[in-house]
Amino acid sequence: MTLVFHSIAEVQQWVGEARNQGGTVALVPTMGSLHEGHLALVREAQQRASHVVVSIFVNPLQFGPAEDLKNYPRDLSGDVARLSHLGTSAVFAPGVEEMYPGGPSATRVTVEGMSGVLCGRTRPTHFQGVTTVVAKLFHIVRPDVAVFGEKDWQQLAIIRRMVRDLNFGIDIVGVPIVRESSGLARSSRNQYLTAEDRSRAQALSRALEGARVAYLEGERRREVLRSCVLQTLRDAGLNPEYVEVVEPETLEQSPEALRGPAVIALAVRVGAARLIDNVILGRS
Ligand code: AMP
Repeated sequence: MTLVFHSIAEVQQWVGEARNQGGTVALVPTMGSLHEGHLALVREAQQRASHVVVSIFVNPLQFGPAEDLKNYPRDLSGDVARLSHLGTSAVFAPGVEEMYPGGPSATRVTVEGMSGVLCGRTRPTHFQGVTTVVAKLFHIVRPDVAVFGEKDWQQLAIIRRMVRDLNFGIDIVGVPIVRESSGLARSSRNQYLTAEDRSRAQALSRALEGARVAYLEGERRREVLRSCVLQTLRDAGLNPEYVEVVEPETLEQSPEALRGPAVIALAVRVGAARLIDNVILGRS
């Protein structure tokens, strides 16, 4: 049975008991409406700790004023059922008032530089919202390990940097992207797609796969790899917000001729959804 806690005091008591029994704790932060991508994170967490806490919190701080905070899909009872099936130990599902009593916190955590590139250009306050809430969750739960998806590569890189810079002492684990059979990366926001959008959205993974194959065949020119992705998207009638080839850890633009691993990251609006995807090149 999965325990569901809505208050900070309750989850902290439970974590304290787990530790008294000699247990280890893994945290999987999510915004709920869980799909197979989230469940892969939970399975990884179960491999890494005796006790797993999945947090479910639609964090207002990471949504811009014109974004989908109000309509973001929410399904707590379905989520708890899915997690019980996996044997997850506990869910922490606080309300907004529990996390931000009296309004948004005045204290913010910002990873400078990395938060302003890629998605940060069009979502200037997004990553500050993410790092602030993740820092709070880390302090509340004090996990040994926290698990994040590589689907949000920029988020993962920023959190690794925050943990290093602020000495959180938490092991950050990344899990590869989970895709539908069509190649589309699973996302809670895929619910916004119509059937026609879905078929156009297949171009994202097709474009990245094309670049991956070109890389494997020896192509190392950054702009050629980037153009290959852009062309596939445009052929599908999509106009991406960005397609960039960056260094995996720093998110700085890769050199003109790639020398080491790189990430091709992109964001595209398809119908009512803003979709992101990426591929890692040259990872050993
Ligand atoms: P979200 O609920 O969208 O905030 O996502 C919570 C966590 O699940 C984040 O670490 C995401 O990167 C991860 N995640 C979401 N979708 C996927 C996916 N398709 N594959 C792997 N991880 C994912």
